[in-house]
Amino acid sequence: MLGTIRKESGGTRGVSLPDPDETRRTFTWDLAEALLDGLPDGGLNIAHEAVDRHVGAGYGEQVAIRWLGKTGTREDITYADLAERTSRFANVLKAQGLAAGDSVFGLMGRVPDLYVAALGTLKAGLVFTPLFSAFGPEPIRTRMEIGSARVLVTTETLYRRKIANWRAEMPTLKLVLILGDAAPEGCLALGPAMAASETVFDAAQTLPEDPALIHFTSGTTGRPKGAVHVHKAVMYHAISGRYALELTPGTIYWCTADPGWVTGTSYGIIAPLVNRVTMIVDEAEFDLDRWYSTLERERVEVWYTAPTAIRMMMRAGDAAAKSRDFSALRFLASVGEPLNPEAVVWSNRVFGKPFHDNWWQTETGGIMIANLAAQDVRPGSMGKPMPGIRAGIVARSAAGVTELGDGDIGELALRPDWPSMMRSYLHEQARYDRCFVDGWYLSGDLAMRDKDGYYWFVGRADDLIKSSGHLVGPFEVESALIEHEAVAEAGVIGVPDDTAGEVIKAYVVLNPGFEATGALERAIRGHARKRLGAAVAPREIVFRKTLPKTRSGKIMRRLLKARELGLPEGDISTLETDET
Ligand code: ATP
Ligand code: MG
Repeated sequence: MLGTIRKESGGTRGVSLPDPDETRRTFTWDLAEALLDGLPDGGLNIAHEAVDRHVGAGYGEQVAIRWLGKTGTREDITYADLAERTSRFANVLKAQGLAAGDSVFGLMGRVPDLYVAALGTLKAGLVFTPLFSAFGPEPIRTRMEIGSARVLVTTETLYRRKIANWRAEMPTLKLVLILGDAAPEGCLALGPAMAASETVFDAAQTLPEDPALIHFTSGTTGRPKGAVHVHKAVMYHAISGRYALELTPGTIYWCTADPGWVTGTSYGIIAPLVNRVTMIVDEAEFDLDRWYSTLERERVEVWYTAPTAIRMMMRAGDAAAKSRDFSALRFLASVGEPLNPEAVVWSNRVFGKPFHDNWWQTETGGIMIANLAAQDVRPGSMGKPMPGIRAGIVARSAAGVTELGDGDIGELALRPDWPSMMRSYLHEQARYDRCFVDGWYLSGDLAMRDKDGYYWFVGRADDLIKSSGHLVGPFEVESALIEHEAVAEAGVIGVPDDTAGEVIKAYVVLNPGFEATGALERAIRGHARKRLGAAVAPREIVFRKTLPKTRSGKIMRRLLKARELGLPEGDISTLETDET
């Protein structure tokens, strides 16, 4: 443990912020509701909250999205532009006879049309599902089948490569909208259809419990699940965006996540727009120089990214960041994977700003555990439960669930009464029901709460290793390994062993300038032994070019393990990098 990083100023803006524990104690849901407008007769529509009402309130000229194209183009889309474009899109859907609740899938890169399609669908009262454009034909098809897709919005290239071959076999799919001015046979070109549509569309009178979004989980532990979220989720997006990411009107905010992953929608579309920020959208994938330049040139104030990106930056060394001006940046935040303490310390040094880890899941729809602005950061800890969120550490047994105390390792559980919680897993009622026991939602992650209320991630229940009587979380071992100067990333699994039960095997990606030699392997093992003790240190280290990761940047330990044991690989539809 690296101790606590104290925030002398009491926050990230140099002004005194309310004590976070006090904020938690005094929180009521009225505070979240106060951030919303609402529709007559108890209606609630995410698109109205995120876009139209800001225009109504006189902020139409404010930039909602600053879009950075791959090739250097830059487009500013104001709230008024976004209102008009989403209205046109909603009118296109309406003209095609689509009805409330119909399912619309988006398959494209991070182009402005993606944001228009997502919000236009919600405005029309239909249900939106964003998919990663890099998915292959099979993962796309499976997800569209699970979601009973009625409409697909995509590009001509993606359509020809990934959809055309099997489209005839999906009878639910009524309409394919193609971005641009022309479309292949059987599809509709979106450009002319939008141009011919009315510029006004009153947001559908959806109710808080009406479905709005389907998000598929990352598939890290197995077959992805389709989590259904409702319009009421916007209440939680609004307030959690305020508290955890300090999204206030006018803030320049950049979330690097693709909307194909829940983070890219909850905090890459809804939370920022509801809070009327100006958000940066970068079409390109990670590129060290581009990212540093974007942070600097756009004067990004709040940056939400993933640990994998920070590890890539660390790997490139401090020098790349040296001459940069990050003075606008107030803090960084990340989600999706454990944030290694080393990464917190590194970014404190390089950016000179605090780094806030936060924990949540596709299922929870929003940030559950976080470091709030005025809260001291304990590197390696996820922070504390958000205002309005009741969390606990529990143990399951045949008799039910019992709550454990401070310092105990157990399953991270939540009292499921916040607005953005999933309402079901599509077509998987039994799997959904299994998540709830004795009034708790069980996350499948193991964690520990310290005596001051900070939560520490231990590992996914599936990834836990039992070695010589010790319970070992891969995170702890991986974090120790990346402290070694040669190690950029590490993925750790347990492999069966006659005497120890399991022994630890590590897969390691090296920093540039280091060669994969037996001597280096021994040196890294020696370092791990010193840090962790012989029982917990890896018995074997294998060097790889990259670790197998999901598109949302998570290490797929189950795949390393399946290969090690010669077992079937299981669902690998979300697999991205994977080079030995
Ligand atoms: P699947 O459920 O399909 O196996 P997944 O759990 O990776 O995939 P997501 O919902 O995208 O799908 O990810 C949520 C999980 O990511 C959490 O359950 C947790 O294991 C991990 N996670 C998220 N944030 C953090 C964090 N700050 N620290 C540690 N782990 C995190
Ligand atoms: Mg999960």
